[in-house]
Amino acid sequence: MAQLKRDKKYTELKGEKMTEYKYESLLERAQAKLPKKTLEDVRFKIPEITSFVEGNQTIIQNIREVASKLNRDPKHLMKYLSKELATAGNLEPTRAVFQGKFSSHLLNDRIKAYVNEFIICHECHKPDTLIVKQERMYYLLCEACGARAPVRSF
Ligand SMILES: [Zn+2]
Repeated sequence: MAQLKRDKKYTELKGEKMTEYKYESLLERAQAKLPKKTLEDVRFKIPEITSFVEGNQTIIQNIREVASKLNRDPKHLMKYLSKELATAGNLEPTRAVFQGKFSSHLLNDRIKAYVNEFIICHECHKPDTLIVKQERMYYLLCEACGARAPVRSF
């Protein structure tokens, strides 16, 4: 991907709120945050979903924990899962409820696909990324190598 124009503003989707940053400050923050050694030493582990089926619904008990470990908005993860499972989902204070019966195995496969699409940098394959919004488009911005790639929005 081409380098970004430095003066453009990005909006970071993180937690429940959106924060505006300049690209330059995002990179500075990224570089200051972690020494390179730490990045190499800590192997990224995909968090696992804990779920069960109740009647015709599937309950994910740790959706917020999984989203938090992935450094993503739980609402983003919910929208992704709803779309992938082609069903309606509700984010409750501590859990997520989806219409239909889905196995934990299938849900964890979807989480892996989510990580590949929305977490792992397409260039350097590190997980130190942010989803940023610019002019209605969403991008995966890598804090490790500075690469930027467009991602789906929903
Ligand atoms: Zn990268």
